[in-house]
Amino acid sequence: MIEKVLIANRGEIALRIHRACHEMGIKTVAVHSTADSEAMHVRLADESVCIGPPASADSYLNIPAVISAAEITGADAIHPGYGFLSENAHFADIVAEHGLTFIGPKADHIRVMGDKISAKDAVKKLGIPVVPGSTGEIKTTEEAIEICKKIGFPVIIKASAGGGGRGMQIVRGEDELAVKLQTCRTEAKVSFGDDAVYIEKFLTTPRHIEFQIIGDSHGNCIHLGERDCSLQRRHQKVLEEAPSPVIDEETRNRMGGIVSNAMADLGYCGAGTIEFLYENGEFYFIEMNTRLQVEHPVTEMITGIDIVREQIRVAAGEKLSYTQDMVRFFGHAIECRINAEHPFTFMPSPGTVTQYHAPGGLNVRSDSAVYTGYKIPPHYDSMVAKLIVSGYTREGCLLRLRRSLDEYVIEGITSNIPLHQALMKNEDFQSGDYNIHWLEKFLKDKEDTND
Ligand code: ADP
Repeated sequence: MIEKVLIANRGEIALRIHRACHEMGIKTVAVHSTADSEAMHVRLADESVCIGPPASADSYLNIPAVISAAEITGADAIHPGYGFLSENAHFADIVAEHGLTFIGPKADHIRVMGDKISAKDAVKKLGIPVVPGSTGEIKTTEEAIEICKKIGFPVIIKASAGGGGRGMQIVRGEDELAVKLQTCRTEAKVSFGDDAVYIEKFLTTPRHIEFQIIGDSHGNCIHLGERDCSLQRRHQKVLEEAPSPVIDEETRNRMGGIVSNAMADLGYCGAGTIEFLYENGEFYFIEMNTRLQVEHPVTEMITGIDIVREQIRVAAGEKLSYTQDMVRFFGHAIECRINAEHPFTFMPSPGTVTQYHAPGGLNVRSDSAVYTGYKIPPHYDSMVAKLIVSGYTREGCLLRLRRSLDEYVIEGITSNIPLHQALMKNEDFQSGDYNIHWLEKFLKDKEDTND
């Protein structure tokens, strides 16, 4: 049984994990950098340990410091949240070597899925459809030309170790191929320490649809339906919804069944997300995230299932609390990522929050670690809150979301709330008619008309 969890993260997700732990009667240990000593996750946890200076590399990514904090406080498990050490297989191994429980999948599964080339290969073998492209690493222009002849332009060159929407190059014709291949390899080496890249067909009007799964160590794996994360800027998600406006029940059950059966075959234990591009009624796997995701609350809102609680249970060796038959989908949920940045120029805006008031009311959830007087440090991600709202229908959800955004008060810094408010008024968004390129076009049109 797990009695004390060290939360190796910060911000809203550290709070989210703390809350699940306390509901389960589990004690929590917060770790923090010197920049975060006044942070909410530190205040709420049962114990806290300072693990280093502000830079993530010296604190939240500092494996010896995190492990020492767990040992000093007598924690018996570590939850990595998302980002930081969450998809670091080496860390998962070290946690296990120290006799601690890693709240996440087996290190081998993190390793396979963390490398996009091996992930594509693994899921293809499990019967999951992938984007057409190279079967392995592409090293030379000749190999690249050969592949492009087969799949046709445009193509996208992607770093196998890539993440966070970085390390991708779109190539529209053979004349650009050699230079972009080189650029992508060099950038991949610099950013991810690995220059392996691969090529796949660049889909021109897809939606980003992902399936949430959870497996246990008893051979069970269930899916919790899909999320639509097509509203993106620079390949990064801005707003997510569940269910997707374009997926019907039959498709959800069929695809959900394919992914959960595949993950059960793999012996996957923990929460995971299988990401697809969806175009003309076809799904194409792009990657798997072997961790809790930022957007997991929209799934929780429409299923009523606490995903973090299930993560903790399965990590402790217990069975999932639900069978697939027990999973019910109800209504519609949307999440807005609230960032401390200018809504249209995207300039980061760290600083002191002089007034903070989160919206409330029926089916309104705000996951945030911000409070009045909180100083947002400049060292970390700009996301400071998530507003998640659900409704009986998508229309009802949108009305509630619009009202909640209007109620949100975050003063002293600039936030991207006006971007979400502008989206709520847009007809394409209201009708659910958008794909992964839509937001960039919306932003460009806005800039051109100086609107
Ligand atoms: P990351 O790990 O950096 O998030 P992903 O492989 O998940 O990278 O891709 C992120 C986003 O990039 C996708 O949601 C999509 O918008 C875009 N993308 C990735 N692959 C393709 C592709 N083959 N065609 C079109 N867009 C793509």
